[in-house]
Amino acid sequence: MKKTWARWFLLAGLLTGGFASCGARGAAFNVVVLGCEGGLAEGNLSCYLLTRPGSGSYVALDAGTVLGGLRQAVARGSLNDCKPTRESNQSHEGWVLREGIKAYLVSHAHIDHVSGLVIDSTDDKPKPLLALNPTIDDLRDHLFNWKTWPNFGSEGDRPLHQYRYQRLAEGESQAIESTDFQVQAFTLSHSNHYPSSAFLIRSGSQYLLYCGDTGPDEVEKSDGLQRVWAASAPLIREGRLRGIMLESSYPDGRQPGQLFGHLTPEWLMKELHLLAVAVDPQQPQRALAGLKVAVTHIKPSLEKGKSPRQLVEEQLRQRNDLEVEFLFPEQGQRLEF
Ligand SMILES: [Zn+2]
Ligand SMILES: [Zn+2]
Repeated sequence: MKKTWARWFLLAGLLTGGFASCGARGAAFNVVVLGCEGGLAEGNLSCYLLTRPGSGSYVALDAGTVLGGLRQAVARGSLNDCKPTRESNQSHEGWVLREGIKAYLVSHAHIDHVSGLVIDSTDDKPKPLLALNPTIDDLRDHLFNWKTWPNFGSEGDRPLHQYRYQRLAEGESQAIESTDFQVQAFTLSHSNHYPSSAFLIRSGSQYLLYCGDTGPDEVEKSDGLQRVWAASAPLIREGRLRGIMLESSYPDGRQPGQLFGHLTPEWLMKELHLLAVAVDPQQPQRALAGLKVAVTHIKPSLEKGKSPRQLVEEQLRQRNDLEVEFLFPEQGQRLEF
């Protein structure tokens, strides 16, 4: 009898990751990429499904391309932890949309980050939508307003209460309902002080940082990224930040006036250097070695020749004097952090 209990305890511990500190570190987060490019790519716009390995419950980080990305992810076997029950009449992607995604975290209301959410709202289930105040105000006033689209939100004119708006307080940790995640939101500046957000997400003792669209602080005359780096630095020192998702919308070669609230490889590396100094002012050069940085929101181009994605990848690899581990997400892929 005793032996059986001990076995159960060990099994439960392994399943919940309680023994993860023994031996090699397993992944603390999985991210299924539903969309990863910037504007122009109608079928591949920012949307990442975050989960804990083995949980099958997801939080959507932005919601540009949703259903199209779900189809790709299902085809690639990236959503095998979230399949419809035998009794369900839902397709696999329909099941993930309705049952698998427990909540939406929206970084800002630009349509390349919310178009899927709006279009698919007719067939989704009621669930929370978490964002900072200005983003919820914009969704309420400009999208879910019975003009651009029926009001599937929970505020404003005759709301249908499909998406329950939860207003995040800057920097304060808040639980995400029906998941094991907690989130802290920070304001980022995305051209002319238009507010975007970064989300620092916690699962147990581990963290992942997702940044929405942002320009460099120096160009934006902002301290948005600096605040995010200040919150992240102690977690990196303690080995608890599993990765960063950060944009590089364009390849190098743009004047600051032509960034439109975005980063390039040069600016992304400048920002990572500021983070490295915050982590270890004595030895910044080694402070981020091995840290996973997923590069998001690369805008495709209509021109012939090398794609912006190829250029951004080459330029970041060349500039990578901090030895971070760059990841270049692809639609439908399941990433480990
Ligand atoms: Zn934007
Ligand atoms: Zn965008």
